[in-house]
Amino acid sequence: MNDELAIGVDIGGTKVAAGLVDAEGVILHRTRRDTPDRSSSPRVVEDTITDAVNELLAWADGEGREVEAVGIGAAGFVGADRGTVVFAPHLSWRDEPLRDSLGGRIGRPITVDNDANAAAWAESRFGAARDESHVVMITLGTGIGGALIIENELRRGQFGIAGEFGHMQVVPDGIRCECGNRGCWEQYASGNALVREARGLMTARSPVAQDLLARVHGDPSRLAGPLVTEAAREGDPTARELLAEIGHWLGVGIAGLAAAFDPGIFVIGGGVSAAGELLIEPARESYRRRLPGRGYRPEARIVEAALGPDAGLIGAADLARGGT
Ligand SMILES: [Zn+2]
Repeated sequence: MNDELAIGVDIGGTKVAAGLVDAEGVILHRTRRDTPDRSSSPRVVEDTITDAVNELLAWADGEGREVEAVGIGAAGFVGADRGTVVFAPHLSWRDEPLRDSLGGRIGRPITVDNDANAAAWAESRFGAARDESHVVMITLGTGIGGALIIENELRRGQFGIAGEFGHMQVVPDGIRCECGNRGCWEQYASGNALVREARGLMTARSPVAQDLLARVHGDPSRLAGPLVTEAAREGDPTARELLAEIGHWLGVGIAGLAAAFDPGIFVIGGGVSAAGELLIEPARESYRRRLPGRGYRPEARIVEAALGPDAGLIGAADLARGGT
């Protein structure tokens, strides 16, 4: 067995998480840095990554372990060359040749991938989809990201940006989206949608929003998604209904994806997936009602991701070892 380690780096909107990962997907040691803000130069972001990687290399060295490669997962569009970040919403990167910029400083082979691709890879190798060969990953955060694995291989698309499921239109002439269109899926089935709907009830002074209002001391602007999940877990019927509504739209989009890709499993990850069955059971119900050819075709499973926030880091590391 290969006992060399790989380093995975997950660059998110608020933090850069990095870890030493073994061939079984186990994180042996980890570190983190704050993500430099959007106005920082690409060089500052590279310094942050290099600093975290060097800390892990020194730790591995102290343990007498070799590190064979470094994988980076970043939110945004990553070119099909797996070396260039075309666009990253949280950072100043525009057509940033990240692999080449970092290569000279880190001294290990480097691969770059989209963060949802990295998470999907981790779930398919070590997590919720480990027995499946056709996997659709859906990451529910502020928006919706995704990734596609067909016959055990990530499918990145001609230009490297396949899997941006959040901007499929599910409602004609629906809610305006920051992408410029209307009715995008992520306007109905994301963390932002959950918060928007909850705030709508609160500002309308709806009596059903009393529990939620009390949790933010009467100030709707203080509401965040995890608070709705917490209220739902503690039995607030309105919070449950809000999550069920998000779940309903989740299932509508999944039925469309099933028609296109025919996977064996949908893995639901990202922060909103922490709501678990409160979200996923309503998604299964609307998926079954909307599935094209329902009753005449096998149904894919819809499950919560197993690796939580570590999936991006673990997947980036494993992809750097030569995963495809
Ligand atoms: Zn959109």
